[in-house]
Amino acid sequence: FMSDIPMMSKGLHSIFSKAIREPLKAIATMILALLINWELTLITCIVLPIGGIFLRSLGKKIKRNAKKTLKQRSNLLAILQETFTGIRLVKAYLMEQKLHQKFVAENRALLRYEMKVIAVDSATNPIMETFVVGAGVGVMLFSAHQVLSGRMTIGDFSAFYAALAALFDPIRKLADLNNLIATSLAGGERVFELMDVVPSIQDSPDAVVLSPVQKSICFEHVSFAYQPNDLVLKDLSFTVQHGEKIAIVGKSGAGKSTLISLLLRLYDVQEGAISFDGLDIRKVTMDSLRSQIGLVTQEAFLFNDTIAANIFCADPHHEDEAIYKAAQDAYADIFIQHLGKQYETLYGPGGIDLSGGQKHRIALARAIFKQPKILILDEAMANLDAESESYILRALETFTKGRTTFIIAHRFSTIQKVDRILVLDNGMLVGFGKHAELMKTSPIYQNLYELQALGGLPT
Ligand code: ADP
Repeated sequence: FMSDIPMMSKGLHSIFSKAIREPLKAIATMILALLINWELTLITCIVLPIGGIFLRSLGKKIKRNAKKTLKQRSNLLAILQETFTGIRLVKAYLMEQKLHQKFVAENRALLRYEMKVIAVDSATNPIMETFVVGAGVGVMLFSAHQVLSGRMTIGDFSAFYAALAALFDPIRKLADLNNLIATSLAGGERVFELMDVVPSIQDSPDAVVLSPVQKSICFEHVSFAYQPNDLVLKDLSFTVQHGEKIAIVGKSGAGKSTLISLLLRLYDVQEGAISFDGLDIRKVTMDSLRSQIGLVTQEAFLFNDTIAANIFCADPHHEDEAIYKAAQDAYADIFIQHLGKQYETLYGPGGIDLSGGQKHRIALARAIFKQPKILILDEAMANLDAESESYILRALETFTKGRTTFIIAHRFSTIQKVDRILVLDNGMLVGFGKHAELMKTSPIYQNLYELQALGGLPT
């Protein structure tokens, strides 16, 4: 967007300024030339289609290479972004040299494409000049012959020649414009390709607003695949009563995060249905569904914005008191008070950095502020230090009351207090019940438990 749109708008500026004026000038001078000597004018015009064909092929070449230039610029930006975001790993694994070489190679490719665009653009004018001069010389010889044989006066000759010179000026400018439009189209096509993408998940035309969930969440024979014929979740059926605390456990790749994505309707199920209070989530508006769900993820992502904005997110009617209360409930207020500008402190480049545990507490405050009916903790406590974990567990104990909570957890210490545990294995539901019950009935759960007892589940 940052390079394609400026490229597109550069062409648009020229179109509005030149694309009307120059053709009008060309038509006016052409009429004048026709009035002076129509035969000679038509002969002159024979070269125009040839020039047009040339221009067209040059324009195509420019567009093709301009597109490659833009794509290459994105590649370069991607390399810069990954290098800077992963700078700690880059240094720790001595990758500076390798990434430098990668950058240089991509940069050279960019230079090559840009040089091609410049070369074709620069060649356009000399080519057009040759046409113009060639046509001018031809016409001059022919008209000189006509003057000598008495079929044309010197006055007409001079007037015709002046009109011709005036005609070639707009043609030359239109040739430049042609190249500019070609580069502009390259940017435009890329931008519109993106803008034309239709989101695969949309509200259905008859979608209704989902009232606050009060009864249950139900999965009925749900199957889902990211790639065709590669089911990640297979025929899942279970019901969670409102207010229940559910832990989702299973080996890495079992489908835990996918199940959460389906609850948020980030994807639609391929078979079966998910319903909230008996309503299929494909038949409710996405806003009314997602506004009822609070999500805390493992990486506790914070936006480059103030601490307050990180808590209230997109709520246009947020009240300061509610933000402070959410932060207090998440035990984040304790450290926010010590930041330079407290809730107005900027996070991110140009602002402050926070520890993992602090970021988690802000992420939790964000979820608490939303006052969701359903809370999802996606491995939210996996990387926490003992102190932060104890803060968050305390916060959750109060906050989860009266809300349906899904906790993806690898540490069994974090799921001790849940109502029921949902065990996934290779996309299938292989157990759903209380810990003691599952220890007796589910060998897979037993296995997971023992692995954890031996020092943590493989992730
Ligand atoms: P878990 O959270 O239990 O570790 P996931 O739900 O993340 O498991 O993944 C389940 C399976 O789906 C894995 O085999 C994973 O490779 C695959 N998967 C996850 N996300 C995607 C995706 N966006 N596209 C394709 N496959 C994916």
